[in-house]
Amino acid sequence: MNWGSRRAAILLRAALMTAVFLVWGSHAVASDTLVAIADRVPRVLILYPYDERIAATTTVGEALRSRLLEAKDGKIDLFSEFLDLSRFPEAEHVARMARYLAEKYAAHRPDVVVALGRESASFISANRSSIAPTAKIVAAGFGNSTADNLDLPDDVIGAFTTFDILKTAEMARDLQPNARHLYIIGGSSDFDREWLATARADLGAFSKLYDTTYLEGLTIDEFVERASDVPSDSIILALTIFKDGTGRNFIPREALRQIAATAGAPIYGPYQTYIGYGVVGGNTVTFDTLGRTVGNLVLDAIAGKPVADIEAPQTFIADARQLRRWGLADKDLPPGTIQMYRERSLWEEHWLAVTGAFGVVLMQAGVIALLLLERRRRYDAERRSRIHLLEAVHLNQSATAGALSSSIAHELNQPLSAIRNNAEAASELLRSGNPDLELIKQILLDIQEDDQRAGDIIGRMRGLLKRRREIDWQEFDLNDITSSAIHILHSEAERRGITLHTNQPTSELPVLADKVHVQQVVLNLATNAMDAMMDAGPTKRTLTFATGLANQKAELCVSDTGNGIPEERLSSIFEPFYTTKQAGTGLGLSIARAIVETYGGTISAYNRPEGGAIFRVILPLAAREE
Ligand code: ADP
Repeated sequence: MNWGSRRAAILLRAALMTAVFLVWGSHAVASDTLVAIADRVPRVLILYPYDERIAATTTVGEALRSRLLEAKDGKIDLFSEFLDLSRFPEAEHVARMARYLAEKYAAHRPDVVVALGRESASFISANRSSIAPTAKIVAAGFGNSTADNLDLPDDVIGAFTTFDILKTAEMARDLQPNARHLYIIGGSSDFDREWLATARADLGAFSKLYDTTYLEGLTIDEFVERASDVPSDSIILALTIFKDGTGRNFIPREALRQIAATAGAPIYGPYQTYIGYGVVGGNTVTFDTLGRTVGNLVLDAIAGKPVADIEAPQTFIADARQLRRWGLADKDLPPGTIQMYRERSLWEEHWLAVTGAFGVVLMQAGVIALLLLERRRRYDAERRSRIHLLEAVHLNQSATAGALSSSIAHELNQPLSAIRNNAEAASELLRSGNPDLELIKQILLDIQEDDQRAGDIIGRMRGLLKRRREIDWQEFDLNDITSSAIHILHSEAERRGITLHTNQPTSELPVLADKVHVQQVVLNLATNAMDAMMDAGPTKRTLTFATGLANQKAELCVSDTGNGIPEERLSSIFEPFYTTKQAGTGLGLSIARAIVETYGGTISAYNRPEGGAIFRVILPLAAREE
């Protein structure tokens, strides 16, 4: 393997020291030593030069592993060894490690050994006969001496990298089309100077387009100062600064960090490791790309295909923060540029969570909308049925008033006649020579009382006909309603020869409802009872109202001595339009039930054993604060 002649190999040293993967010379080698892998999964041993904390090697290793596992669908044995040669460089450790690995892999000889880094490559080259005598060796990695010093066997193949300053310069030109000045920064070490020479050659034509200045042989302070003074329409290309003009050693990216902090124009560099240290970006080979490239070589080796040195594909990388800092547009980046430190939008960052949250919110909104709609529907339906009920009750009231009108007129006639008679009597007395003023006074009082009676009758009639637009909720004593109903009915009952009977209420029965509605229930039951008793013929007609407490509820029973209800009708007596009367509507009981249920109560009908029907109304007691 000819490891020393390429420019890439020169650049290797810088890359090694800056923790960048690099170049090894190319030399095609046919794969003829690979042992045929028959009937077992291939074994690949990955040698890491340092320990597991070195991000550069582990990143390459991980990219390599996932490429292999993906391509072989998991059917591959991967072994990793961290040689720790940086902390234990001494020959004893190397020998011990070689013995250990030789024994460890005695029964599991690897088919391919991937040596990441120069130290790994040297290690396996020196010890391959004891560790992996038949394995193909693929090298790609770190080191801190020049690649051309490596004395690697010819059949070791390499995945190498090239750091192309021209491509980096072209990237800068695309991002800054208006730039007029070009500055190239390089240090004073041998390597730095070699890099500068390479850049001069590579950028020959390119630099002619600009007012070009090479900043070299400067101290770190001079670099910082000169970079800060450049015009804003400048491109700064950073190579490496391993040493400054005074011979002071630097890790290039650390030197670059100082320069970039106050630079007057964007800085570009060809190393991934410069990203995050103040450069906008450049053309390089990323650890990921290198890992995948090595992976492809290994796959070919396993498959027994001829394998040759290969150059890992280059990628443009950029630091999104620096693009923003300098106002450079994403659209001017070369296609496929990997942007690092890119702030992803809320959507990009948390699309799953955002989608999930959005879905949940949408679902919630949907459920809420449905519930609101449902509530609205229910509310509308309730309102409609309430209006219907109110209208029906009013018609029912009118019908009752109509039915009772003649007896009410008759009842009204009594006080009116009494008033007339008393008025005439008073006139008579006044016409006499010596009027009895005491008597006249008494007569006038009687007239007042009769007027009051007539007023009460008219008031009850009005109350009976009171139309409701909305339910007038109020708390009242159920006993009072019974009494007022009796007042309304008594003359009709009298006219029909019916005795009204009421029990003596023992306690108040507070209920919460519309008084007029509950009174209508009582009137419906009572008029039905009176009708039933008329049908039964001239037996003893008694209409009884009984109120009381039943299971912590208010109870009202209206019973009669009529013929009762046919047994088969008992269960459906409250259905609308059932009537046995010539002029009946069959609505009285159904309206009564609707009213009672509106106020949370129940109504039921029975036949009394001794004859006649009994209707039982139960209403909840109004909750009273203690
Ligand atoms: P209507 O009074 O217009 O017929 P109702 O719904 O008030 O309508 O009554 C329906 C029917 O129920 C009556 O026609 C009658 O046959 C029967 N009914 C109601 N109350 C009694 C009762 N106390 N005794 C016997 N039958 C009754």
